[in-house]
Amino acid sequence: MRLSRYFLPILKETPAEAQIVSHRLMLRAGMIKQASAGIYSWLPMGFKVLRKLENIVHEEQQRAGHHPMLMPTLQSADLWRESGRYDDYGEEMLRITDRHGRDMLYGPTNEELITDIFRSYGGSYKQLPLTVYHIQWKFRDEVRPRFGVMRGREFLMKDGYNFDLTKEDALHSYNRHLVTYLRTYERMGLKAIPMRADGGPIGGDYTHEFLVLAETGESEVFYDSAVTDLSFDDRDIDYNDKAQCGAILEEFTSKYARTDETHEEALFNEIPEERRMTARGIEVGQIFYFGTKYSDALGATVTDGEGNKTAVHMGSHGIGVSRLIGAIIEASHDDKGIIWPEQVTPFGAGIVNLRQGDDATDAACEDLYAKLTAAGVDPLYDDREERAGGKFASMDLIGLPWRITVGPRGLKEGKVELTRRKDGETIEMSPDDAVARLAEIYG
Ligand code: ATP
Ligand code: MG
Repeated sequence: MRLSRYFLPILKETPAEAQIVSHRLMLRAGMIKQASAGIYSWLPMGFKVLRKLENIVHEEQQRAGHHPMLMPTLQSADLWRESGRYDDYGEEMLRITDRHGRDMLYGPTNEELITDIFRSYGGSYKQLPLTVYHIQWKFRDEVRPRFGVMRGREFLMKDGYNFDLTKEDALHSYNRHLVTYLRTYERMGLKAIPMRADGGPIGGDYTHEFLVLAETGESEVFYDSAVTDLSFDDRDIDYNDKAQCGAILEEFTSKYARTDETHEEALFNEIPEERRMTARGIEVGQIFYFGTKYSDALGATVTDGEGNKTAVHMGSHGIGVSRLIGAIIEASHDDKGIIWPEQVTPFGAGIVNLRQGDDATDAACEDLYAKLTAAGVDPLYDDREERAGGKFASMDLIGLPWRITVGPRGLKEGKVELTRRKDGETIEMSPDDAVARLAEIYG
């Protein structure tokens, strides 16, 4: 992409309304624009990152055999009356009446709708296990929308629902989701720790939240520092293997890690003192097993091997896709701007032309731009007529992991500079070597 033709409205001033760094940087880097309280338009660069996160979520869900689908944002109130949550959900639910006087609502989550779909078609145990999911906008009329996309009113969530014949099978689905989530967050360059949580309005005894540690997190968390040493890496998983998924759950959840809702001081104090950590975290996902809570309420049954109808066992599993962008920035920035992990960066590298309009420099940049594009690096070429200082500041703000700086002096020696955003390390090399380096990283 050429910056002169892109829509990247970078702000010079720090917006006064933004209290935390990710919100400030997303506004300044032209990623989002507030439409009304807690509701945002996603400008091209913000949308590009959002799509990358969605892709990672899709890939990891489908790797585990989960099927993508799409349910609507607007739902009928009747279904929620059947489950009893129409009244329980409270003021966070946005209620709407259509022209015929029918009560509708903008879905804050989809347990009722998916259970209705399942019950409509009945089913035999032979079709199970089944997990479907979608990535769809949700609306929750939060009392205090704040922190930009981290606590919005309209936000993008991946929510998945498993259907199983028995509790044992459903617990395997739960474990499998935990495994897919560990891998999903790691692929985004994030460390998200599963912590024992509280069921809340969704209900259920088995539930874990995934938290990214950050000072600006809204949850207070307590954990054994040994959990931060665990990493999933690129393990080869058979998602149908109950023992393997169970062992991973055990590995990642047996050390103490809790949110304040489930914190037990006595248990916490059993950890050696130097490993006892109290911190703040951002909830980026949650998994639940809630048994037959919704299938009982809505009458969703499955026929077992003996021909008996039994209530189907279910769980639901959410990832806060739009919140994740804020969480990634909270976890990875400096005083100059964002530092994107390579896995989710909007562009692979920036090209800074130090002398726009100079024939040789322009030609070298064009050549680099073409080669990087062909190599799949997806470069952003700053071809604006601007001084070098301004170009560097913009690149640092938007936070691409790599920058190639092209100027007449270096070109005389056949060199450009390759700079790593994370630590500023700069190496001189030929343009072709720079292309090769980046092609290797993003290949
Ligand atoms: P919270 O406790 O932060 O209000 P929740 O536990 O009510 O969230 P879930 O129902 O578990 O949320 O939804 C799944 C995921 O959706 C959460 O883990 C979070 O990442 C994301 N999410 C929830 N509420 C919001 C919001 N208002 N804005 C952005 N993301 C949200
Ligand atoms: Mg939650």
